[in-house]
Amino acid sequence: MIIQCVDGIQPKELENLCRQIAAFGLKVTEVKTQINFYLIALGSYEVDIRRIGSLFGVRDVHRVSDAYKLVSRKWKVAPTVIDLGDGVNIGTGDFSFMLGPCSLESEKQIESVAKFLVANGVRIMRGGAFKPRTSPYAFRGLGIEGLQMFADIARPMGLKLTTEIMDAAQIEAMYPYVDVFQVGTRNSQNFTLLDELGKIDKPVLLKRGMSGTIEELLQSAEYIFMKGNEQILLCERGIRTFEKSYRNTFDINAIPVLKEKTHLPVIVDPSHGVGIRRYVESIALAGVVAGADGAIIEIHETPEKAASDGDQTLNFDETEKLLKKARSVFQAVK
Ligand code: PEP
Ligand code: MN
Repeated sequence: MIIQCVDGIQPKELENLCRQIAAFGLKVTEVKTQINFYLIALGSYEVDIRRIGSLFGVRDVHRVSDAYKLVSRKWKVAPTVIDLGDGVNIGTGDFSFMLGPCSLESEKQIESVAKFLVANGVRIMRGGAFKPRTSPYAFRGLGIEGLQMFADIARPMGLKLTTEIMDAAQIEAMYPYVDVFQVGTRNSQNFTLLDELGKIDKPVLLKRGMSGTIEELLQSAEYIFMKGNEQILLCERGIRTFEKSYRNTFDINAIPVLKEKTHLPVIVDPSHGVGIRRYVESIALAGVVAGADGAIIEIHETPEKAASDGDQTLNFDETEKLLKKARSVFQAVK
């Protein structure tokens, strides 16, 4: 069960409360986030939660039977809104776009994408600086230099950046430049990285592991939350199946299922989800209809020249068409 503590609970009061809960035969874990104080009590189902609810220091108590607790919708029905500042919010009931290249490549490329986004009313740019590549010989990103280029060129235009982090040791250097830390599919269960991202005060976009279940994704999110960071976005980016006609199988089912199971915003990544440019629009639109809170999509002025993932990257014309359709589909279904 999840026990929400009253605001400003004192250490002595907390100690007492934990002792009283433990006396019911429950194992108590304290969770102090940047926003709230919770106790997670695991154990017997026999305990009458009203008795816990009446203890001094308890604001509310909820029974959550899921393997994950804090990210469950069973105790928090209201959707979590991610506030990136300057009026950029995700999860408000609107549909957010995070568009940009797979990799940040040069000043010229960042500028061309940034200008395109501004002209099309998109406030969040994506772009990898530390790239996980299957081949060690492939382009692995510009590193911090790429993030500095983004900060110099795109930030003054009002754009926010989401970019992938691969190792906890990168947090400090990346922190000043990043608005949303992206955890890629390969690190979806890198628990030491998730623990460290739980200690920072910036949002985390957590991708589903390429062979991860929905429940595993939610438990990974629980790692981040329980270390203190409640600002988490979940991302369906396709899973590996026996099907070979496309790069990954975008699991559309995951969208309504996640929306039911968690209060966290759900983002679709049709680019990696299907991996072939001509199908990206269909999958993105399917994500809108399925109830996602936003989409992260790879775009580039000249996808054929992109340093990574060009085959699944939309050019500007294709992106404009997609934005137009996605916005009108969203209006129709919302
Ligand atoms: C990416 O966003 O470019 C990326 C590498 O994503 P994923 O982790 O989903 O493969
Ligand atoms: Mn990519």
